[in-house]
Amino acid sequence: MSRVYNFSAGPAVLPEAVLKEAQEEMMDYRGCGMSVMEMSHRSKMFDEIIQEAEADLRKLMNIPENYKVLFLQGGASLQFAMIPMNLMKNRVADYIVTGQWAKKAWQEAQKYGKANKIASSEDQTFSYIPDCSDLPISEDADYVYICENNTIYGTKYKKLPNTKGKLLVSDVSSCFLSEPVNVNDYGIIYGGVQKNIGPAGMVIAIVREDLITDDVLPFTPTMMKYKTHADAGSMYNTPNCYCIYMCGKVFKWIQSMGGLEGMKAHNEKKAAILYDYLDQSRLFRGTVVKEDRSLMNVPFVTGDKEMDARFVKAAEAAGFLNLKGHRTVGGMRASIYNAMPVEGVQKLVEFMKAFEEENR
Ligand SMILES: *Cc1c(COP(=O)(O)O)cnc(C)c1O
Repeated sequence: MSRVYNFSAGPAVLPEAVLKEAQEEMMDYRGCGMSVMEMSHRSKMFDEIIQEAEADLRKLMNIPENYKVLFLQGGASLQFAMIPMNLMKNRVADYIVTGQWAKKAWQEAQKYGKANKIASSEDQTFSYIPDCSDLPISEDADYVYICENNTIYGTKYKKLPNTKGKLLVSDVSSCFLSEPVNVNDYGIIYGGVQKNIGPAGMVIAIVREDLITDDVLPFTPTMMKYKTHADAGSMYNTPNCYCIYMCGKVFKWIQSMGGLEGMKAHNEKKAAILYDYLDQSRLFRGTVVKEDRSLMNVPFVTGDKEMDARFVKAAEAAGFLNLKGHRTVGGMRASIYNAMPVEGVQKLVEFMKAFEEENR
């Protein structure tokens, strides 16, 4: 067996300890003679898996009693529609557009009501987070929407926007469980799990209870009502059982790493190694303003497309995979999620130094 250093933006690296455990339990989950993939979602065995996963997540994030945890399908992208369908009572919402995912959410919301773009960083190719201390929040906005960590561009909100009392909805797909959060600051905090938590195909939505009602837009499909899933404990239909099982294992792994405080220290350490090198390199440079740099996604360039391509190719040959930047921005991007070991980033930087020596 040979494992590479996988810098993919998603689906992404998972903790080796978790993969090994899943391997051990593959054929016979704890004496029940079958894999978790084969068992009924209504079985006692699976009920324990989903209950324990939820309880562990609640503990990790310190989720208050008045929030529901929903394990849903359709990825983060289906939430772009579910959010307006469930929350747009006045059919007005304010969007802060800091990248492609926020833009997609904003565009989707326009189908259901008046979605205002109240701030954007598109003028500088989304390389910064706009000042959100005094935005023109709409009087009748049902919510204010953000994408908290911008996976493609590598920016992160270091301070939540001042929503002037309006509900905050946040997509945390690429920074989920990477550091402590205060769930009370949000009406809905949600993310696809394939970046930082588990395999692809599921989204976890943490939704304040008073927002879960039958008062949704009239055409809302049953499957897209939060209430449908909340009332059924995320089992209105067959959930993504195996993904829930894997996420549950990752929650325990994070706990063993010191919870979200431990994760934050681990992530800050890795990011510092990479950013410190980028800041003094004479070949590579980061593309994001320093104050808004993400701990998770680190885009960088040489300024020469041909050189970028050569670097990506050489890195791949040396066992550092998926460093090519998003197709819309070019250059490189190293995604250094929770499960990326410190050693992976150290070795990448050593490799970059050697490449710099040879190519200056
Ligand atoms: C990857 C990503 C998405 C899309 O997730 P899907 O599960 O593929 O729909 C949305 N938002 C952010 C911030 C992402 O990183």
